[in-house]
Amino acid sequence: MIRKAALLVLALLLPFMAHAQGPARIDVGASSVTWQDVGWWQAVFGPRAMDLSLALDQAVPYRVFLVGDPARLVIDLKGANLTAQDLPQIFGHDLLHAVRSGSFQRGWSRIVLELPGPYRVASAGMDTRGALARLDIALWPVAPDQFTPRPSAAAALRNLPDPAVLSDTPIRGEGLVVTLDPGHGGFDPGAQSDDITEAELVLTFALELREAMQAKGITVNMTRDKDDFVALEQRMTSARAAGSHLLISLHADALPKGQAAGATVYVWSNSADDRAARQLAARHERKDLLLGMDLTGQDDALAHALMDFARTDTQPRSEGYARQLTSRMALMGIGLHGRPVQGAAFSVLKSPDITSVLLELGFITDGYDRAKMSDPLWRGRMVQAVTEATLGWWKDEAARGDLLRR
Ligand SMILES: [Zn+2]
Repeated sequence: MIRKAALLVLALLLPFMAHAQGPARIDVGASSVTWQDVGWWQAVFGPRAMDLSLALDQAVPYRVFLVGDPARLVIDLKGANLTAQDLPQIFGHDLLHAVRSGSFQRGWSRIVLELPGPYRVASAGMDTRGALARLDIALWPVAPDQFTPRPSAAAALRNLPDPAVLSDTPIRGEGLVVTLDPGHGGFDPGAQSDDITEAELVLTFALELREAMQAKGITVNMTRDKDDFVALEQRMTSARAAGSHLLISLHADALPKGQAAGATVYVWSNSADDRAARQLAARHERKDLLLGMDLTGQDDALAHALMDFARTDTQPRSEGYARQLTSRMALMGIGLHGRPVQGAAFSVLKSPDITSVLLELGFITDGYDRAKMSDPLWRGRMVQAVTEATLGWWKDEAARGDLLRR
């Protein structure tokens, strides 16, 4: 009887006793990301080695690996509860491009750290001697050709939960103006396959995206909201007239011969070296579609200089947006092209004063891509990825604005 009572008391107490009974928790206050104290040459010529230390209230099994495009460190922890953690606030988080975490599968939680460049894991180990267990990871910078991530980032990150639910304050898009630019339209159907045209597919997607963005407080301008032809220059004029911060041009082209399918994000580049990017750009700049509206050949030296000047500011922001976008798409399990961010000389990306990207949702001529883009559920995930990337980017922009005002 006495033994029974003691057992009952023990059972009642257990949830409040040793940590070991519940899931492990990260002590964010005791965790940090720091530059390694190394030779002056690295401090000056960077990138620098980095130390990551995660404090946990108990030791847990873990695994650590790298994925690419962009370079990210993935840390999986078994039996750790990360959902309530404010990991993005970890000391030194500003050394990283992004920090995300969430429960993953079968008791594993996952942390994804977007690195400032290519790194290798020099060492990783769990130190269990102190009151807190510590997962210490040393990262050494490597040349881009020495970077050896897991082959498929999208596959490696497929099962991550929606990262947006992890931030405690929902991000809203008030004050943000986005122009959505569904490509083609009217007498220009774009790429075609079976009985689907690129023009109608990207319009459908744009209308769904508009609804999701508006629900988040974003002001959305459309270069077209029906099956109309809109010249390239008009599209940029429309974005500028609406006071847009961001232009997202939407396409689903024919797959250039011998190229891999999957979603791709293009940012402006004068020196696009990729054959596929060049072919796509060429197809979109055809004179018969432009009705003489393309100003490519008419830029004089002064206009060029002014545009280059403005672009030094806009270009990194477009690249930042493209990074956000590909990260979100990977996290949502959207299949990405092997090189998900590429440069291309698309005229519609030429606005020197508006952050601009061209999102190739997939390739309409690829059977698998076409089936996905025709599936409302897939589009829903893509809509969510783009909306969240946009809000994340806007938050970064706001933080950047605060920094500039200081
Ligand atoms: Zn197109």
